[in-house]
This record gives sequence, structure tokens and C-alpha cells, in this order.
Amino acid sequence: MSAEPDPLPSPSLRRRLHMRVEERLEGRSCGWCSVFVAYSGRGRPPSYCSKSCRNRAWEVRTAEARLQRDIVAGTARSEPVREVIRQTVVQTRPAPPPAEQSAPAVSTAAGWMTLLQELTEQLREGELGRQHWHHEKLYRRLTEVAATLGEAYPGGMGHLQRNAGRRSR
Ligand SMILES: [Zn+2]
Repeated sequence: MSAEPDPLPSPSLRRRLHMRVEERLEGRSCGWCSVFVAYSGRGRPPSYCSKSCRNRAWEVRTAEARLQRDIVAGTARSEPVREVIRQTVVQTRPAPPPAEQSAPAVSTAAGWMTLLQELTEQLREGELGRQHWHHEKLYRRLTEVAATLGEAYPGGMGHLQRNAGRRSR
């Protein structure tokens, strides 16, 4: 016994034999989950396999209807969500070491002599001697110091230079 149904006779053969084809709904797939639901033949054919599938389909239908109403009313947009992102580069610089900030100001001649000696050594031995791009501003500041010293000395820069030269000889 074959499970395959017999093929229908061709329309021309059916016409000659006065046959007609009757159709009967045997079932349909669930409108939500697509499971096949058999139809008994009595009453309205089922659209869903279960109450929960019917409810889910109804929820989606009403939500879609609500969305369409809101789009028409202008309270909802059908466009995708857009985002504007601004990129800002934040560079953090470590704070200078506290020792540099709170170094005691030199206020005596001896202090100046020691400090200037140290700075001279730095120029001779350290990195600063090779950093030529810093030299111009250092020179400008040192010239300023020398000029201020000359202004402070009685008789001015001329006397200061003469006396300093005599002392070193
Ligand atoms: Zn279902």
C-alpha cells in the first residue's frame, strides 16, 4: 500500500468521464509558528495552533497598527536612530615634580655663585649643552641678568667690567 495519493486524472480525461474535482481543507499552518494544524471540517478553520500563538500574533498586529498611526500623526519616525559622535583628544600631562616648584629661591651672593656654577656645569656636561634650540632664550635671559647687574653697580656696566677685570688678574 503506497502512501502517495493517486494522481488526479488530466482535465481532458475528467471532462470525458464527467468527473469533477472536489476540494476540502484538511488543515493549514499556524499563522505564528507555522506548525501544521489539522481542520476537522466543522466550524471556522483554525488560523493558529494555540491560544498563545494567537495572542502573540495579535500583539504584533496591534503594535504595528499603533506604530503606523503614530507615524501618520508625526509622533513617531520611521527613520533609523542617528547618532552624532564628537571625538576629542584629551592629553594628560604629568604634573611637574614638587621639588621643582618649591625649590628655595636663591637670595644670597654665595647662593648665586653656587647655582651659576651648577648651571655652567650643566651646559658643559649635560643635555642642555646639546639642546641648541634652547640656547637663544637662555642667552637672552643671561644678557638681561648681566645688564641688570651693570645698572645696579655704582658707575654702571663700564665700572663693573673694569673692576671685575682688575680683580681676576
Ligand atoms: Zn503556533
